[in-house]
Amino acid sequence: MKSKHVIIVGGGASGLVAAIAAARNGADVTIIEQKDRVGKKILSTGNGRCNLTNEYMKSECFRGDNTAIVPQVLKQFGYEETLTFFEELGLILKNRQGYIYPISDQASTVLDVLRMEIEHLSVNVVLEECVKDIKKTKKGFAVTTNQSTYFSDAVILAAGGKASPVLGSDGSGYGLAKQFGHTLSPVVPALVQLIGKGNYFKQISGVRTNATVNLYVNDAFVASDTGELQLTNYGISGIPVFQISRYAAKALYEKKRVIAVVDFLPTMTKEELNGFIQKRRESQSYKTAEDFFVGMFHKKLIGMFLKMARISPNQVVETISAKQWEQLLVLFKEFQVEIEGTNSFEQAQICAGGVRTTEVNPETMESIYADGFYLIGELLDIDGICGGYNLQWAWATGYIAGENAAKNVAKGM
Ligand SMILES: Cc1cc2nc3c(=O)[nH]c(=O)nc-3n(C[C@H](O)[C@H](O)[C@H](O)COP(=O)(O)OP(=O)(O)OC[C@H]3O[C@@H](n4cnc5c(N)ncnc54)[C@H](O)[C@@H]3O)c2cc1C
Repeated sequence: MKSKHVIIVGGGASGLVAAIAAARNGADVTIIEQKDRVGKKILSTGNGRCNLTNEYMKSECFRGDNTAIVPQVLKQFGYEETLTFFEELGLILKNRQGYIYPISDQASTVLDVLRMEIEHLSVNVVLEECVKDIKKTKKGFAVTTNQSTYFSDAVILAAGGKASPVLGSDGSGYGLAKQFGHTLSPVVPALVQLIGKGNYFKQISGVRTNATVNLYVNDAFVASDTGELQLTNYGISGIPVFQISRYAAKALYEKKRVIAVVDFLPTMTKEELNGFIQKRRESQSYKTAEDFFVGMFHKKLIGMFLKMARISPNQVVETISAKQWEQLLVLFKEFQVEIEGTNSFEQAQICAGGVRTTEVNPETMESIYADGFYLIGELLDIDGICGGYNLQWAWATGYIAGENAAKNVAKGM
């Protein structure tokens, strides 16, 4: 009997795994990829080392308008399944505080084992063709690229979002999903730097410091994260900023007021810090303001704090007024950055938003609007926090869709 044909639009993380799962389940598989090679984005992941999943795999690590789909996906293909999948492909994995990498510390290794498996399973790969149109026909699907039309029994849309478009994901997948009646939650950059209002950033640009970043939208607390904060000449960056950035991006899209409140000394409460400073004053009040804070903060931060509290760097500490001390405490613990934007999709690692998850069957990833049409990966309205969660989502949804597309076509849909 002639095996059924599954076309996968996009040869990224989710598409490659979908291809493997479909081919292993007996389908004849074609990947159509618009770049000159598959998996370009995988090579850039984890700073070139590919953080491919995380030992701490909980639904709360994923965000979206409707995250009910997450546990249903993870129960089918979670952390353990990801480890087994890659170990069977030949990867030895390394666990760095729960963050999983290939032992080679090379993202190219991850892509290599995926590519080798695809070759071994005789998956047909069409490169440098961009899918422009997908139509349901009487017999299946007609997938039209800028060069040709291909026919299949099922289609898996794995075109990604629109973050880092230079690596292939240019947002064209959203239009293809819309052709089948799918709707989108607004797509915004996520895991991205935030642009702050104010003229002080140039002064503190380049500083890296441990801090807690609390995000407020229209004065209501929304999210918080602690880690290495990076100050740039336009705003704030670093892992804690990335982790909360999707909430800022969504709120800015909705024209809401967004404030990041930075705690530059998260290891002490405000009271503890106050006590600490009082004690320091007892022995060091002869120092200049500038010297007094050496050892507590980066020098560039000291300069900025003093300027904002209108204290001259040469002012002797004993002359600092009670009001100025109070102001300094607020600057140290509740430094307000008004957020006026995010960096663009070009700089974002992922996007938040996408095809609504209520429009796919969580057991199979099949569209509720079209039998035999599957949607996976970052194209969907699920975004993970930093730490291997976005690739986990891509692998998991890819595997589920590939398996089901092959099984359903094998049943003769
Ligand atoms: C710099 C960077 C670092 C990252 N690091 C990590 C990390 O360490 N861990 C982690 O979990 N996540 C990381 N991510 C996120 C992760 O890479 C993505 O979430 C994941 O690759 C999404 O997989 P996907 O298959 O949905 O989309 P993609 O990997 O983007 O693949 C989509 C593919 O579809 C192709 N395509 C799109 N439209 C068409 C079309 N019309 N016709 C034909 N082909 C098309 C594209 O060229 C692309 O190859 C990182 C992202 C970036 C940018």
